[in-house]
Amino acid sequence: MGSVTDSPNTEAGKKITVIFVLGGPGSGKGTQCTNIVQNFGYTHLSAGDLLRAEIKSGSENGTMIQNMIKEGKIVPAEVTIKLLQKAIQESDNEKFLIDGFPRNEENRSSFESITGIVPEIVLFFDCSEEEMEKRLLGRNQGREDDNIETIRKRFNVYMESSLPVIQYYDSLGKVRKIDAAKPIDAVFEDVKAIFEKVVA
Ligand code: UDP
Ligand code: MG
Repeated sequence: MGSVTDSPNTEAGKKITVIFVLGGPGSGKGTQCTNIVQNFGYTHLSAGDLLRAEIKSGSENGTMIQNMIKEGKIVPAEVTIKLLQKAIQESDNEKFLIDGFPRNEENRSSFESITGIVPEIVLFFDCSEEEMEKRLLGRNQGREDDNIETIRKRFNVYMESSLPVIQYYDSLGKVRKIDAAKPIDAVFEDVKAIFEKVVA
């Protein structure tokens, strides 16, 4: 990025707090991030939303990103990281929820080496595949990847590539696991209990 990263979690002179919000497709990451923003003053960065905005902006990577999302594949780390870094640098806030990233080992290790940022904690929304599938098929947000064929692919990628990232952070004691199958309000009660303990 050109700027000097003189200590961990410092980006362009700011002391940064990052929390990764992970869990399968349809586990409620975005919904709960909206609640967290309202109550705890974080800025919500959804990697999926940033990629979808990049497609819409007509950027040179747009077609590649669109094809990968349609196939449920994970976009190359450097593309997603650039978008996240830009959003962090353009924000006045110093506390960020990064939702839906890192999704594989390449995402995780590249983010840490490029930005020097390590997450404070990792929220893990744990939910059965059956429940997630029901939510994705019912949500009707006009997303090209919320059809049964792509959903199955996303579940496979999640199991094979994303769960190991959660296990890695668990081995560092950073994971806070939440039962995400409960109703939205009940899940948020559990989320709140975790945030009240985060020293930011
Ligand atoms: N995606 C990606 N890298 C990311 C985040 C998202 O490649 O860091 C792509 C991937 O194809 C994924 C899609 O964007 O299946 C949708 O991700 P999002 O987090 O919006 O949805 P979720 O699957 O969590 O419901
Ligand atoms: Mg989402």
